[in-house]
Amino acid sequence: MLTDNHGRKINYLRLAVTDRCNLRCFYCMPEDGLNWLSRSELMSYEEMLRSCGLLVKMGIEKIRITGGEPFVRKDIMQLLTAISNLNGLQELSLTTNGVLTAPYVPELKKIGIRSVNLSLDTLDANRFFTITRRDEFANVMTALDALLKHGIEVKINAVIMDGKNTQDILPLVEMTQNMPVSVRFIEEMPFNGDGHVYTGLQWDYVRILDEIKNKYPEIQKIPDPLNSTAYNYHIPGHHGSIGIIAAYSRTFCGTCNRIRITPHGEFKTCLYDDGVLNIKDIMRSGAGDDELQGVILKAIGSRAKDGWEAEQKRVIHPGIHESMATIGG
Ligand code: SAM
Ligand code: SF4
Repeated sequence: MLTDNHGRKINYLRLAVTDRCNLRCFYCMPEDGLNWLSRSELMSYEEMLRSCGLLVKMGIEKIRITGGEPFVRKDIMQLLTAISNLNGLQELSLTTNGVLTAPYVPELKKIGIRSVNLSLDTLDANRFFTITRRDEFANVMTALDALLKHGIEVKINAVIMDGKNTQDILPLVEMTQNMPVSVRFIEEMPFNGDGHVYTGLQWDYVRILDEIKNKYPEIQKIPDPLNSTAYNYHIPGHHGSIGIIAAYSRTFCGTCNRIRITPHGEFKTCLYDDGVLNIKDIMRSGAGDDELQGVILKAIGSRAKDGWEAEQKRVIHPGIHESMATIGG
C-alpha cells in the first residue's frame, strides 16, 4: 500500500497518453493548439505499460486514461487492453471528449471498462462550437448514446464559465431526469495554455449549487463516495445524479488519493505542482525497477499538503501557463 507523508492512501493513477486533441476548448488551450510534443518526447506505450505495471505492484488500484484526447493517439486500444490485463488492477476508466469514441464502445466494454467520463459543456450545438471551436456536437451525443446502450456508467464533465455556458447549467441538470448519468459541474481552472487570461473564478461551487437550488429547491445532498472530488446531489424522482467539483477552490485535497503521469513523463503528486520527477527520462537513463520504485516512493513521501501549497512550491515553471491537455485533468 502506498501512503503519502500526510497519511493519505495513494491508489489512483491518471495517465495522460497524449497532449494532442481534436477539439480546442476555450478553457483548455489556445485556438491554434499547443506546441505538440514530438514523438520522442512522448512516452511510448512500452514506457507507459512499464510505469503502470510497477505502480500497480506498489499499490495503485485504479487507472484513468486521459489526455489530450486519448482516441487521437494511434492504436490506443492496444494500450488499454494491455493495461486492463495488469494483475492487481481493480479498475480501468477513461476520460474522453467523445468525438471519436462511439465506434470503440463495444471494445471498451469487452476489456472491462465500466465507467467513462465524457466532457460536454453544453447541450446547444452552437455554443458547443463556440466553446470547443469544432463542429463535433453530434458525434459527442452519438458517443453518449452508445455508452449508455452498452451499460457503461457515464459521468458528464461540464466546465462552467461566465459568459460562455452558465445558461447550460439547468439543461444539463435536466438530463439527469431521464438518463442514468452523473452530471458534474467543474470550476474553471487556469490551465488554459495561455489561451486566455484567467481573471479569477466567477462561478465557484457555491454559486453553481445556488443556481441549481433556485430551480430545484428539493435537491438533496447524497453521500460522497470515498475520495470523491465532487459534492454529490440528487433531485428526487430523477434517474441520474449531480456533482460539483471545486477544482479551483481545492476543497478535496485532504482525501486526495491520486497521482498523475503526463504525456511527457512528468510524475505529478498534485494537479497544481509542476512535476516532481520525469519517469520517462529516468527509464531512458537505464534505471531498473528498484531505482524507479525508490524515486517514486520519495516523491510520494514528500507530497504537498494541498493544491495551494503545491502551486506555491512550483519551481521549474512558476505561475500556471500549461494546458490541461498536457496534464490530463
Ligand atoms: N480530452 C478529454 C476530455 O476533454 O474529456 C480528456 C482530457 S481533458 C484535459 C480532461 C478534463 O479536464 C475534461 O473534463 C475537461 O473539461 C477538463 N478541463 C480542461 N481544462 C480545464 C480547465 N481549465 N478548468 C477545468 N477543467 C478543465
Ligand atoms: Fe481537448 Fe479535452 Fe482539452 Fe477540450 S478539454 S481541448 S477536449 S484535451
